[in-house]
Amino acid sequence: MQRSTKIVATLGPASSEKAVLRAMVAAGVDVVRMNFSHGLAEDHLARADLVREVSRELGRTVGIMVDLQGPKIRIGKFDGGRITLADGAAFVLDAECGMGDSGRVGLDYRELPNDVRAGDELLLDDGRITLKVQRVEGASIHTLVTHGGELSNNKGINRRGGGLTAPALTAKDMDDIRVAARMKADFLAVSFPKSGSDMYMARELMRAAGGKALLVAKIERTEAVKALEEILEASDAIMVARGDLAVEVGDAAVPALQKRMIRLARERNKLTITATQMMESMISSSVPTRAEVSDVANAVLDGTDAVMLSAETAAGKYPVHTVEAMARVCLEAEKSADLELDREFLNRVFTRVDQSIAMGALFTAFHLKVKCIAALTQSGSTALWMSRVNCGVPIYALTPEIGTRYRLTLFRDVYPLMIQYFGSDREQLLLEAERQLKQHGAVQDGDLIVLTIGEPIGKSGGTNTLKIVRVGEHGD
Ligand code: PEP
Repeated sequence: MQRSTKIVATLGPASSEKAVLRAMVAAGVDVVRMNFSHGLAEDHLARADLVREVSRELGRTVGIMVDLQGPKIRIGKFDGGRITLADGAAFVLDAECGMGDSGRVGLDYRELPNDVRAGDELLLDDGRITLKVQRVEGASIHTLVTHGGELSNNKGINRRGGGLTAPALTAKDMDDIRVAARMKADFLAVSFPKSGSDMYMARELMRAAGGKALLVAKIERTEAVKALEEILEASDAIMVARGDLAVEVGDAAVPALQKRMIRLARERNKLTITATQMMESMISSSVPTRAEVSDVANAVLDGTDAVMLSAETAAGKYPVHTVEAMARVCLEAEKSADLELDREFLNRVFTRVDQSIAMGALFTAFHLKVKCIAALTQSGSTALWMSRVNCGVPIYALTPEIGTRYRLTLFRDVYPLMIQYFGSDREQLLLEAERQLKQHGAVQDGDLIVLTIGEPIGKSGGTNTLKIVRVGEHGD
């Protein structure tokens, strides 16, 4: 059985060696994530080359995601690298401070004092330390430590309830978008967007740089949760970025938000990635906890397209084991996922010819119990529409477009295949499709399959034909 849910793995020091990367891809990584909060552009470009080399060698299609750093607000540095804050102590966040000490620290965002008020709760280092704002005086935010602990250089700052106004794309992000275009990244993840217009701006910059990446909005701000509909409209995918999101909205609110986001995204024909701490203990342990297994399985049951690994594969001791464990848990959870076709189907609204063919193929495939759906596609849209409803039939997307093949790596239930036919003879094309499906072990002679195709052949958005074929008995 093939896994439907895709695995995104973050690359870092633990996964930079070719042998490790190779083993991770062989274990099931579908998309690699390059975290642009760390490392130099040149290193990321070299890593992308290595990923392509490994995926070619293994005959696997592996997508590449660039994840922008975004306007994460951070404290400055301390003399000595770290301090310890005691509960009840006074502590100042000072936009004009140089090197910090146990009483004050600098800020990388000079506007922060204008954005906070007395009574606000500030969370440092993903909420491990909390500060209550007492008053703001010029460039200084005077706070009281409500939950202390060790605090080291450059830790992030969030405000409970959100509302910090840093712009969505920094100068570094704009440079990195150009790097992503040079890399031919398949996905671009935008950190901390607050609105649809933040995503439109990223798309415009991507386009201007000549990139074709699908845009992923990381939902990690309170404002983004409120603006979810317009962000979905402006994006191709969302990431449930549970790390920062939990800090802003409170950790207990995240599980229900995750379910809502995945449901809404699927209804609007968008993709979802569920991220952060999915296998956290495997950073240092060779087996996941029961709670982590449940978390990954629940994301699969929620209908996520992909589950993501962060530090587990970037800096953990067991990057390959972690991918194996995640793949195993996804596969098992998928066995009990609800087939939702009849229930979901009646509520779907579609007016386009190609979308109608996609829906017709799905309905037919489900009720005829065919071996697979084969969508011959230029842009991947038919495969996207089909994959928004769980019909329990694998969808093979056959495309001559290399970029489309890589962008399909994130779609749940979709298996991208290259089709090497560039002519206009329909029979030849269908025979080539059968040949590819057989070669990949998807079908054998005698299997019934549903095919979708556009005529005339080779036109994007032109899917207008649905055909039911018995493999090996091909003909009109
Ligand atoms: C998150 O906050 O959950 C997340 C995925 O973002 P990052 O890892 O880039 O902080």
